[in-house]
Amino acid sequence: MADVVPEGPQGPTPSEEPPPRGPVLAVFAHPDDAEISAGGTLARWASDGREVHLLVLTNGDRGSEDPALEREELARTRLVETDDAARLLGLAGATVLPIHDGELQNTLEVQAEIARTVRRVRPAIVLTCDPTAWFFGNRYFNHSDHRNAGAVTLDAVFPGAGNPHFFSEVLAEGFEPWKVPEVWLGWTLEPNHYQDVTGFMDMKLKALAEHRSQVQGGLFGLFEEWLPAEAEENGKKIGVQHAESFRVLQLE
Ligand SMILES: [Zn+2]
Repeated sequence: MADVVPEGPQGPTPSEEPPPRGPVLAVFAHPDDAEISAGGTLARWASDGREVHLLVLTNGDRGSEDPALEREELARTRLVETDDAARLLGLAGATVLPIHDGELQNTLEVQAEIARTVRRVRPAIVLTCDPTAWFFGNRYFNHSDHRNAGAVTLDAVFPGAGNPHFFSEVLAEGFEPWKVPEVWLGWTLEPNHYQDVTGFMDMKLKALAEHRSQVQGGLFGLFEEWLPAEAEENGKKIGVQHAESFRVLQLE
């Protein structure tokens, strides 16, 4: 990569908008959700120089069909995989909460943990999943952890994270209220934004492949077929090769 990119004689063209700035906080239920839902977008933002943080709400300790596998061991494995994937995507940091897979609830305690992270990171965008998405076609319905992750994150963001009368224990730790200006919801049935991720699909798939415990057997092959095909469909909506779809809310 060149150290210096010389500006053309005209400078940037007027239609060329600078990349958006400010930190991003992604909040998902399981260690590999962020990659599957929004890996291209997160990789692109990190590559733009944005500070991208990931908060995973459960430790993924039921993400196996093998009854002989110890859940504590699986949780430890998935922690390492999460770190490896985050490093590959260029994230500023990844945190995994010690909540059991399949047991995520929208509680004040989890809201406070998310609000603490929001107040610490002070994100321009919080990205999570759409809690209203139940049925994807007639062959899959959404995991309760995914729905609850979206709900608990939205409830932590507004009004809690921005209001000093919510989560006063977090305020006492020195984390001032922060109003999140923009929320992006992945895994949505009502997308209103297609994010161009052309050039970032390889990294999305490589990051997903770091979740080795989850892509054993033929599963990675399925992802390799399904994710680019889905991104191509989304890309057609905005005339690019690959895109990821989101429901974007402007809160300010
Ligand atoms: Zn998941």
